[in-house]
Amino acid sequence: MLVSQILKSKSDDTVVTVVPGTTVAQTAEILSTRRIGAVIVSPDGKRVSGIVSERDIVREIGRRGITCMADTVDSIMTSNIVGCRSEEQANDVLQKMTDGRFRHMPVMDGNQMIGFISIGDVVKARLTELAMEKDALEGMIKGF
Ligand code: AMP
Repeated sequence: MLVSQILKSKSDDTVVTVVPGTTVAQTAEILSTRRIGAVIVSPDGKRVSGIVSERDIVREIGRRGITCMADTVDSIMTSNIVGCRSEEQANDVLQKMTDGRFRHMPVMDGNQMIGFISIGDVVKARLTELAMEKDALEGMIKGF
C-alpha cells in the first residue's frame, strides 16, 4: 500500500499547522480541541519548519514546569524532520517511524508538505489491506 492511498483513505485530510511564534499554551489548546497528537510548525502551511508533539510539551513541562507555556513553539519543536513521499510504501513508513521512535510524519513533494500521516493512519490502512488479502486467499482456497 502506498502513502498516497493512505492519504486518500483519511476521512479528514486537513493538516493542522501553527505558525512559528505560536505559544506552547496555544499549541496545547489546538492539540486538545482538535484531538490530535502533533502539529506541524509552518509559516505558510506548506513549508515545514518543525513538528511539535504532545511528548515535546509534556517533556518541557516536566523539565521546566508550566512557565514553558508562555514560550514559543520554535523553542521546543523538533526541526530535524523525517518526512516521506506519496509514492513510498506503508511498510517503509512504519519502519521509519519505529526506527525514529515517532508517530507522525509529513508527506512531502520536494520542499512542500502535501499531507500528514500518523502511525494510526498507517496501521489502519495496513489492517484493511491485510483483511482484503485474507478474503482473497480464502476465496481462492474455497474455489479449488
Ligand atoms: P511522536 O511520537 O510523534 O509524538 O513524537 C516523538 C518525538 O519525535 C517528539 O520529540 C517529536 O517532535 C518528534 N517527531 C515527531 N514526528 C517526527 C518526524 N516525522 N520527524 C522527526 N521527529 C519527529
